[in-house]
Amino acid sequence: MERQTMLAAIKNRMPEKRYIHTIGVMETAIRLAHQYGENPQKAEIAAIFHDIAKYADVDWMKQVVIEQQLDTRLLDWNAEILHGPVGAWIVEKEFQINDEAILNAIRYHTTGRANMTSFEKIIYVADMIEPNRKFQGIEELRTLADISLEDAFRACVTHTLSFLVSSQQAIYPVSIECYNSLIREE
Ligand code: GDP
Ligand code: FE
Ligand code: FE
Repeated sequence: MERQTMLAAIKNRMPEKRYIHTIGVMETAIRLAHQYGENPQKAEIAAIFHDIAKYADVDWMKQVVIEQQLDTRLLDWNAEILHGPVGAWIVEKEFQINDEAILNAIRYHTTGRANMTSFEKIIYVADMIEPNRKFQGIEELRTLADISLEDAFRACVTHTLSFLVSSQQAIYPVSIECYNSLIREE
């Protein structure tokens, strides 16, 4: 699929701000893919579609989780964690994208999971450090991403989980498994 066709397909599903974020994730993911020996065309596709379900109706997404027999634990936490798995389902069904590497990168871009592939890590990191994002500590994450994908990913996951803990939000068990797998790796 042409880049412009894919971008046109997601543009009307999100506000301008999210579209600009998506372009930033796309450019960052392509750059990281080149740097870390992953497929840049696939990175482009995963990045363009990663937030396709971000503004989908929450009750509808919950229904998709049930009907498509996705992990039902997704229903018990912050509704934010639905848009990855449901997004992957939309992309497969509506755009006939069957590449599991792309689908998994979309599926786990918010929560992470244990033992992620380098390709999945690229999308996770690109989502966090793309040029339009602003938060305390982001410059350190950007610098790390230039040096080591593993270290950048570890720091990004730590940042997300620390944020959730410090704002007293519940953490989806798969995100904990992601964190634990990083600690074991070390
Ligand atoms: P975005 O879609 O580009 O805004 O970025 P993400 O998909 O990474 O994250 C969306 C939100 O989900 C962030 O505000 C995270 O804090 C939140 N989030 C990520 N993992 C979890 C989790 O395990 N539990 C909860 N409650 N929220 C999470
Ligand atoms: Fe997202
Ligand atoms: Fe995003």
